[in-house]
Amino acid sequence: MKNILIGALAFLSFQGMANTGLIQEEVFVNGLQDLKIIKQHPALTIDHMTNSGFELYGPKGMKQWLQESGISFSENTHSHSHSTKSNKFEVSYPTYEQIEANLLKLVALRPDIAKLFSIGKSTEGRELYVVKISDNVEIDELEPEFKYISSMHGNEITGRELTQFLIKDIIEGYGSNQQITELVNNTELYIMPSMNPDGSKRKQRANAKGYDLNRNFPDWTIGEINSEATRQAETKAVMKFQASRNFSLSANFHGGAVVANYPWDSTYERHPFDKLLQDISLKYANENPEMRTSTEFAGGITNGADWYVLKGGMQDWSYFWYNDLQITVELSNKKWPRYSKIPGFYQDNKASMLAYAEAIHQGAGFVTSSKIATGSVEVMLKLNDGSYRTLGSFGFSRGEFYKVLTNGEYKFRVNIKGENTVREFTTTVDPSVQANGNYTALN
Ligand SMILES: [Zn+2]
Repeated sequence: MKNILIGALAFLSFQGMANTGLIQEEVFVNGLQDLKIIKQHPALTIDHMTNSGFELYGPKGMKQWLQESGISFSENTHSHSHSTKSNKFEVSYPTYEQIEANLLKLVALRPDIAKLFSIGKSTEGRELYVVKISDNVEIDELEPEFKYISSMHGNEITGRELTQFLIKDIIEGYGSNQQITELVNNTELYIMPSMNPDGSKRKQRANAKGYDLNRNFPDWTIGEINSEATRQAETKAVMKFQASRNFSLSANFHGGAVVANYPWDSTYERHPFDKLLQDISLKYANENPEMRTSTEFAGGITNGADWYVLKGGMQDWSYFWYNDLQITVELSNKKWPRYSKIPGFYQDNKASMLAYAEAIHQGAGFVTSSKIATGSVEVMLKLNDGSYRTLGSFGFSRGEFYKVLTNGEYKFRVNIKGENTVREFTTTVDPSVQANGNYTALN
């Protein structure tokens, strides 16, 4: 009797729960017939939708609720593929300490172009490492700023290794490989292999406190403001990092599918730069044989919400508040593949990772004479008849602005706060890598 009562109470409190991204139970829901009921439950997180079903994450009481609602599910074996089987011939993944040592070793090869720093600590006190790669790496130069972040879902491990391979190849290729040399000379690249080291240590999706970090960012579609209060340690660190830089193009790496997923995730509304997002997602997918030939996603890309809607994700937050176009790249169907598969995944993704980073040069910006100037800029595209169409108005700070755009001719109308004059200039956007980026100096 007592157990029944406790069960009933848990069931009732579960029904009233809001979504905080807390994960205490995980299952695979069989089929799509119950999707509607599940979508109405705010505390549940859907991931990796396929025709046969989807992963479902939620707080305690979820499984009971599913049972009592008559929804068919099985244990989520997908997220732990291979992780539970031990194989003495299989090389295991490096530990946090080994990754730290590897990154230190790599940046020491070329301290003139690479440096390692931490943007904060995880819940359990692990450093959240970022490698900056650029010529004159110690100087904050006026160059477009790009970033890769991997493995915010701790058990989606492939990208944590691939980003380390990429760091190595960029550092070693500098000076001999032309594509890499031009990229490093004219871009500030920031690469974060592991946003959730505590989760990776446990081979789990959530951070050490059980929170899904890709449901933990501020989301304007549910009325949130861009505030760090109440966010998880890892989310806060990334939010502070983003606010301190001028990123204009980013991607974050996941696993469990093979696809490049572009905003928005949180609404079915099309993104104002939908076509551009498709183009840059294709730049990634086209260089990856498995992604390009996907039978599940045309061209290896998908709009986020068209796949499944999620709230509190990083990519929507990144553009909405920081004008930083970000896509989510799913690198491998198995979230935790055998380590011996990693070099093959890197071969499939290396050209994509470089081509996507290079895409940041398809853009334009400006710099003001004051490093602390703030204001707004209206960006207008020149049409065939010579007139201009306004694409939007964007804020800028720290005296600089840069935006990735489709090819064409543009007019920028810049309003510097505290000044009465509007500065206007025209500029051309094409994919070529320009010396230190395509910036116009405003005097
Ligand atoms: Zn993920």
